Amino acid sequence: MKIRQDCLQIRGRLVHFHALLEKDRITLIDGGFLGNPIKRVARVLARHNRSVEEISHIVVSHGHIDHTLSLQKWKEQTNAVILAPEKDRIQIRGEYPYRGLNRLCGYMEGCTRALFRFQPPVIDRWFHPGEKLGLWDDLEVVPFPGHTVGHCGFYSPSRKFLIANDLFSNFLGLTGPPPPWFNIDQKEIRESIVKAAELDISGGVTLNHCRPASAGGHRDDLLKLAKRLRK
Ligand SMILES: [Zn+2]
Repeated sequence: MKIRQDCLQIRGRLVHFHALLEKDRITLIDGGFLGNPIKRVARVLARHNRSVEEISHIVVSHGHIDHTLSLQKWKEQTNAVILAPEKDRIQIRGEYPYRGLNRLCGYMEGCTRALFRFQPPVIDRWFHPGEKLGLWDDLEVVPFPGHTVGHCGFYSPSRKFLIANDLFSNFLGLTGPPPPWFNIDQKEIRESIVKAAELDISGGVTLNHCRPASAGGHRDDLLKLAKRLRK
């Protein structure tokens, strides 16, 4: 679905991801999860008279398997350059030492890796918090730790638009932080949500685990959630 004229949401079974359109190239945020994401992206882009061959970069939001499973396939089947957060390097390799409740996430990831024969992706460039990526005009890395160590959002100052990734979810009328077993630190993810709401997001927000809604709808959900967490 179209979130903005230049941002398409590719809707998947458990997780959605995004294509950012420029005149002469396309950037994907994350690579998609189950059910041949490359074909799905091709279908969505074709509806907008664009093609997979135009994808120049794939930017990874964090190291969870539902964002990394397909990366190596993209690498093998396209010429896209893959960028990822340096702080999630171990997680992207599938070697993160989960602790406490978060071990449930590690268990689920382990099963998924085995079932789908996960290939650790070759990353072309590692990025850091605050870095300007040189994509989509002015895309910046905004660190949103607490979900994983390196989890981040991407912000376009000229569009006042935030790609929040897994910062929060708003399925089935329930808006909240990600479920606790998916986070490494519950306090830190709540702080990240409050911090995100302080950005100028008048151009809207999009995210990965969400209801079908406009950029304004997701922004309003984020602002309400941050207000609730501040109390
Ligand atoms: Zn995640």
